Amino acid sequence: MTSAIPDILIAGGLLVNGSGITKMDVAVLGEKIVEVAPHPSDIKAKRVIDAAGLYVLPGLIDAHNHPINLDKMDSFTLSAAFGGITTVIPFMQNMRSRGIEGTTSETIDRFIEESSEISYLDFGVHAILFGDDDVEVEVPKLIDNGVISFKMYMTYPRRGMMMPDDRMLRAMSLAADAGGIAMVHAENGYCIDFLTDNFIDDGLTSREYYAKSQPRILEVEAANRAATYASVTNCPLYVVHLSAREVLDVLNRYREEGKDVFTETCPQYLDLTNQTLMEHGALAKIGPPLREREDNAAMWEGLQNNVIDTIASDFCGFSKAHKYSGGRSSAAVEAVDEIDESGSIFEASFGGNWTEQMLPVVYEEGVNQGRITMMRLVQVMCENPAKIFGLYPQKGSISVGSDADIVLFDPAMKHVLSAEAQHCKADFTMFEGKEILGKAVYSMQRGRTLIENGEMKSEQGGALYLPGDVNVTASAPKGYKVE
Ligand SMILES: [Zn+2]
Repeated sequence: MTSAIPDILIAGGLLVNGSGITKMDVAVLGEKIVEVAPHPSDIKAKRVIDAAGLYVLPGLIDAHNHPINLDKMDSFTLSAAFGGITTVIPFMQNMRSRGIEGTTSETIDRFIEESSEISYLDFGVHAILFGDDDVEVEVPKLIDNGVISFKMYMTYPRRGMMMPDDRMLRAMSLAADAGGIAMVHAENGYCIDFLTDNFIDDGLTSREYYAKSQPRILEVEAANRAATYASVTNCPLYVVHLSAREVLDVLNRYREEGKDVFTETCPQYLDLTNQTLMEHGALAKIGPPLREREDNAAMWEGLQNNVIDTIASDFCGFSKAHKYSGGRSSAAVEAVDEIDESGSIFEASFGGNWTEQMLPVVYEEGVNQGRITMMRLVQVMCENPAKIFGLYPQKGSISVGSDADIVLFDPAMKHVLSAEAQHCKADFTMFEGKEILGKAVYSMQRGRTLIENGEMKSEQGGALYLPGDVNVTASAPKGYKVE
């Protein structure tokens, strides 16, 4: 045991982990947590942070985001940090559709290099695999480089994004061989295109036809198919952004059989409905679509019952102009000076900007409303993503030897969510005006202060790339409960 005096002592806060809440002192030396002891302890430190009346949480992990549009890793991670997040796992893909040459692994190598310079937060990376990627080469190469999770789209065939089923099976098999994990966006793209074409042919392109063009059954079908393929290939599977109420029973059947099927939902599927899209049109267009109150309720129930393992944001970083312009280039978007709200809903871009609002919304609607406990919040937003993606216990845990990634949360602080208050570049939020009781007021990463007194105190350039450890993922408990 080293006798060095800790740099920081977080004293007298309520330490939350997945199994309980206790009043503890947490000592940090350098980048690590070196002692956790009941309060009051006799630990002396160079600086004492009084955490009385605050929750002490492991830094949150946002394991689903796309910082490749208006917000890159600089403004995205800044925004995430203000939302109590200390680790992000963005998706990265080959950018050939944007005219940038290179394979997936080459693009990811560049992304890691650039992000190390501009990110405020430590980061892992998930790869997205498209039908034109050479999975035989890419999957083993990426896993060697610590990119152990591979997302495939089962939808968007006409956007060139859908992974054909035979290629998906092959990629899953390769990932399984090397200890990786497959991720899917589960919606049946051919059915969506069929229904969309019918509406367009009939001239029905206003917002009320959007949800009807991508009904819940298409998510249920695709999720079941992906879980079938994962069973056949013996590949762990993580199904992103669940939204349809019927999908939980379907996936839970595989979990109860002991299959490695992990599940995620997002704040928008917990709190917003198609009514938001009816009010805001293109700005609320996401895939899968916002659904009904019954679906929100089912997602909360899934979180309560351990059928859903994680909450992540699916941040895309679009401005209003991007949303209305249907994913055209940034130059084309900047040329848009008039936003035409009467345009076809089918032409608008998919995606939202919710990383900074994620913890406030989940805390307000989950904990304050009695739908989930604070311990469950820490399980699904800190511990489980770290375990599933091979980062535990370096991340996702306040215990001796873990990185000192710590968030102080004041349950008595009131605030209102707004586009003006957020720190990404996006100029809107679908949670505008939402009143929240409870806020992340301080955070640190590896012992360095990130957020204090409402300001970012850290510089870009100190972020670490976090290779996923396949052994950690492999030991993530199998089946329906991530212990
Ligand atoms: Zn996404």
